[in-house]
Amino acid sequence: MPPSADLIVENASILTMDPDTPRAEAIAIKGGDIIAIADRARVLDYKGAGTRVIDAGGGSVLPGFIEAHMHLFGGAAELDNLHLAGVHGFDALRDAIRPYASARPNARLLLGAGVDYSILSSDEPVTRHHLDRIIPDRPFAMSASDHHTMWANTKALEQAGILHGRQLGPGNEIVMGADGLAAGELREGEAFGPILEHFGQNRTRLGLTGGEPEPYPSAEELAADRDLMHRGLQWCAQHGITSIQNMDGNLYQLELLAGLEEEGRLLCRTKIPFHFKNFMTLDILEKASRMAAAYKSEWLSSGMVKVFYDGVLDSWTAVMVDDYADRPGWRGEPLFTPEHFAQVAVEADRRGLQIAVHSIGDGAVRAVLDGYQAAQKANGKRDSRHRVEHIEVTTPSDVPRFAELGVIASMQPPHPPGAMNFPLEPTLSRIGREKWPLSYAWRTLKNAGARVVFASDWPVSPVDPILGIQAAVMRKPWAEGLPDQSFSLHESIAGYTVEGAYAEFMEHRKGRLKPGYMADLVALSADIEATAPEALHTLRPVTTICGGKITYQA
Ligand SMILES: [Zn+2]
Repeated sequence: MPPSADLIVENASILTMDPDTPRAEAIAIKGGDIIAIADRARVLDYKGAGTRVIDAGGGSVLPGFIEAHMHLFGGAAELDNLHLAGVHGFDALRDAIRPYASARPNARLLLGAGVDYSILSSDEPVTRHHLDRIIPDRPFAMSASDHHTMWANTKALEQAGILHGRQLGPGNEIVMGADGLAAGELREGEAFGPILEHFGQNRTRLGLTGGEPEPYPSAEELAADRDLMHRGLQWCAQHGITSIQNMDGNLYQLELLAGLEEEGRLLCRTKIPFHFKNFMTLDILEKASRMAAAYKSEWLSSGMVKVFYDGVLDSWTAVMVDDYADRPGWRGEPLFTPEHFAQVAVEADRRGLQIAVHSIGDGAVRAVLDGYQAAQKANGKRDSRHRVEHIEVTTPSDVPRFAELGVIASMQPPHPPGAMNFPLEPTLSRIGREKWPLSYAWRTLKNAGARVVFASDWPVSPVDPILGIQAAVMRKPWAEGLPDQSFSLHESIAGYTVEGAYAEFMEHRKGRLKPGYMADLVALSADIEATAPEALHTLRPVTTICGGKITYQA
């Protein structure tokens, strides 16, 4: 007698992502793991008196999505913000802000999110005066979809004490107007941090600062933060996500998640990194090692060091090898010198930690690869799986280095200009025609042997992996003669499953559906292979299962 399953999912078009047995009709789960996956008759042998059976209605069942780069706490905190993605023109902006503001008469600060740099037009930067014309009497600020720039009205700048500017660290800037006052545009965290801090919104940036909350939150604040985290997890489970590789973090976030696990509310497996900032000294990496030692279960883990090397293209803060195409003499300002970063990489690598570095410009990508190479030289070659995040521009000589050094390329299908809700400009002009062929070059990197993992960078773009898969499949060159960087459906799904598992050294336990693997899976509303690429976004998760437990049901 075969053992009796806890749960059976049948009548499904299962894509296992396992090359040995790519397809199946039914799957049996017991004790959080998969015990059988085959045709219906064979799997029903595992049906006992207490087995729950779910009919997938012929829809696709895939391995649960692994989100390889996102910001859980910040994403959850933004769920209530005014969403401005896709809003263009002054009138549309006004018509979005005013009703949002009047519905929240008591909010100290009104916050918008998801703004395009060309929200007014590609040649008219947003200033505080535009925002004052819409909302003069209450503090208002809105952040770019990439979260590297914020625009604020006069009230917000004034109350936060930055209307007259302030000296900031490299790469950060309060843009000043001709009148000697802040123009309203705030580039990078040190520039807009004072606004979030002044209005008590800095909690949303917890973990991005690298430190721990000071003072330690009260019991109420802790409960509120835990509930917020839970809301974020629910949002992810609703989108078929079973594993999260978070890209900001500290001990506090791990404690919040451990609290949720204790309450039975940890809906996704979560990995939280230690966030290393340029002002820290190397000995702080001892803390990263302690986090790794304390949290290493299949539900909650650490063991990664996250670093920002540069900013973003749209605000000219990404670090380029050559001058920006639209700003001669300027290549961006790195947050680390190459030598400093190499020291960090050598020490983190020596400790056996994985490293993930935000590197958008080709200059940043190169410096980070150099740092990984230095680490390999100093500590010897090991299966380190260090990662480069974003890689929006790269160079012919750096492309093969990913495979040579065993470095993972972490890419975001929703991010290329023209994909999903991101406009073509100003990004394409910043990069310049000459570098377009190696911009967001997923296919080129994959063909050169790099492991390419996919993610949303939520809340930079919507967390929905199905939208990401669609964006990867539908990717079109910006001009004739450019290489086709699109992925096939199967490759795109692998980017959110198989490759995600590899990125966290868990390919023997997840990312595929096979006996002995974790029962992490998502059932979709229809058959993904029978769905036209342009209709992929109509597919919805109907059931998400993580560790054999149902974490979402439509
Ligand atoms: Zn990110």
